Amino acid sequence: MAHLQTIIYTMIYFVSLGPGDPELITLKALRTLREADYIYTPVPVSRKGRHTSKAAEMMLSLGIREEQIQLYDLPMSKDRDGALEAYDLVARTASQKQQDEPDARIAIVAEGDCGFYSSSAYIGEQIEQAGLATEQICGVPAFIACNGRLGGQLVQLEEQCTVIPGEATEEEWVRAWQSAHTIVVMKGSLCEAEIKSAITRYPDRKWHYFEFVGMPKEYITSQTSDILEREFPYFSIIISKCR
Ligand code: SAH
Repeated sequence: MAHLQTIIYTMIYFVSLGPGDPELITLKALRTLREADYIYTPVPVSRKGRHTSKAAEMMLSLGIREEQIQLYDLPMSKDRDGALEAYDLVARTASQKQQDEPDARIAIVAEGDCGFYSSSAYIGEQIEQAGLATEQICGVPAFIACNGRLGGQLVQLEEQCTVIPGEATEEEWVRAWQSAHTIVVMKGSLCEAEIKSAITRYPDRKWHYFEFVGMPKEYITSQTSDILEREFPYFSIIISKCR
């Protein structure tokens, strides 16, 4: 008689948390977190010290237990070396955990959608190099939540949408501002001077500015005078439309 062999397909899950408002996590992401034994969660560390983990706070508010949450320090600085080391460590720790405990359910959380300018890309490559499989649970990206707070269409009819991740060449910026399309700019702190200069050079465009959307310190304005006075944090998004 042939023996039936049980094959356990182990999988490390990248779970999208959405933009910050706990109600904007998907049911699938929440179920995956509830079922997870280990949830790797970043704690931002800046020159000012260790910050509270917004991701951990949000999960706790949704009933995820403290013992499921595995915090890891994530250095926040322009120099990406510290962050890459942190991601390497998470990838190694999660892969080792999966090999030591094949039945354990492991999740790695990402803000917004884990497939959109996400640290998951790098962590995922390392995990796959270790020979393990990963699965992405998609979520609401921050720029979609920003437009939701604004109301109306991000793009409609023939309009196109360009997303710029804070940095672009001079030619790319000019092409974006001169187009009739919607421009979404992420990582506001990387391009504060460019945005402020574009606001004065392209006064016919509509300018919308968002900080910490869905979080207690959310700030939103569509007044260019307010945007010009603002110091842009990393967690800011600018949406510019032609209507
Ligand atoms: N995966 C994320 C994007 C990560 S890149 C997503 O799907 O949205 C990091 C950038 O996302 C930040 O610099 C900021 O521009 C934006 N961001 C993420 N969450 C945000 C929030 N709650 N409010 C404003 N911007 C946010």
